[in-house]
Amino acid sequence: MNVLVLNAGSSTLKFQLVRTDAEAMASDSDERIARGMIERIGGEAVFTIRKADGQSSRGTAPLRDQRAAIDFLLRWLVDPASETGVTRVAEIEGVGHRVAHGGEAFRRSVLIDDAVLQGIEDVIDLAPLHNPHNLRGIHATRAALGAGVPQVAVFDTAFHTSLPEHAYLYALPYQLYRRYRVRRYGFHGTSYRYISHRYRGLTGRTREATNIIALHLGNGCSACAIKGGISIDTSMGFTPLEGLVMGTRSGDIDPAIIDFIGGKEGLSPPEVENMLNKQSGLLGVSGLTNDMRELLAEADEHDDRRAWLAIELFAYRARKYIGSYLAAMDGTDAICFAGGIGENAAPVRAMICEELRWMGIELDPRLNDAMVGGREGRISTDGSRVEVWVVPTDEELLIARDTVRVVQGLESRY
Ligand code: ADP
Repeated sequence: MNVLVLNAGSSTLKFQLVRTDAEAMASDSDERIARGMIERIGGEAVFTIRKADGQSSRGTAPLRDQRAAIDFLLRWLVDPASETGVTRVAEIEGVGHRVAHGGEAFRRSVLIDDAVLQGIEDVIDLAPLHNPHNLRGIHATRAALGAGVPQVAVFDTAFHTSLPEHAYLYALPYQLYRRYRVRRYGFHGTSYRYISHRYRGLTGRTREATNIIALHLGNGCSACAIKGGISIDTSMGFTPLEGLVMGTRSGDIDPAIIDFIGGKEGLSPPEVENMLNKQSGLLGVSGLTNDMRELLAEADEHDDRRAWLAIELFAYRARKYIGSYLAAMDGTDAICFAGGIGENAAPVRAMICEELRWMGIELDPRLNDAMVGGREGRISTDGSRVEVWVVPTDEELLIARDTVRVVQGLESRY
């Protein structure tokens, strides 16, 4: 089945075309045909498209909205010169959409119908920066492909709907939860489903015997305690702002700071929130960049104090979360790293694990240094009581597979 995976943002459209079916999923032989991104939709948009053979094309096109972007993408996909193997739009048999927020209602991926559209609309309040764009992407796709092509919604929050009450409730007046559903939702759920599935594949464990602490460390960063194969706690909360130190987000802070900074700097609460989202984290502390690779280079080459400080804060917070999840889940079999930083930044992994020797974690420096650039494997020593793994994540692949499963009514093994 040819599945188009879409992630529609405010002025961006990320896509991937995947050819997969039950057999390909079982043997990990799904075909990634093309992937890419259209940016600056609304004006002279910039597109970057890369095919499986590594060939890429880049250019600009005037695209006024998501509908125009999808039409552009479909024209490219079926153009014989693109050599995607798809020659007619009708050969796209399903579309999988990444949807940021499914609230409490959506516990798994679903076929999109009017009730689902309404459900996504109902939680716009909870994800005002994402759900409206995801919805626009779904409507534009339906307009372009017709109602006959099945579309599936895959929610970033769904995996965390298993959180117990004591983990998802804030210690706020309970009526705030009852009235407005103020609670912790968690994000990166699609990534965690993929990581725990791969971990099972690598270690031969059953879902019930999967007890891991997973860290998705990309531009956004979070941790997840997976016990018995399900999420029992995660570090992002009501929004993705809570938890670990991220590229530009602060993660955990004392909420009293918001009013204090607002008063001192003459900023409104939304302006302070914007600062916490966009000017904090690695960028805020280092004063240099939100990019971990650049920070590591800066720390290394110029011994920049604030670059070091930002990296240390980042690693320390991640280590604290590992410690708290060990307590929450009564021990773990493994720690799994994923995301751009988790998959590539060996020195950061080493810093995070350094002071976890008390719990029997021992990294193999050689394996740690080698496990970069998309390589998958164990980086702890044979004698390490808790294993440490690098498990490159692949959210798009999971969305494509979910789309096939939902459309064909297959059971999910994730
Ligand atoms: P997103 O969350 O936007 O998908 P990624 O998962 O690609 O982002 O992660 C981006 C982060 O990964 C950046 O901080 C980037 O510097 C970091 N990163 C990517 N490659 C490396 C590398 N080789 N060494 C260190 N950090 C890296």
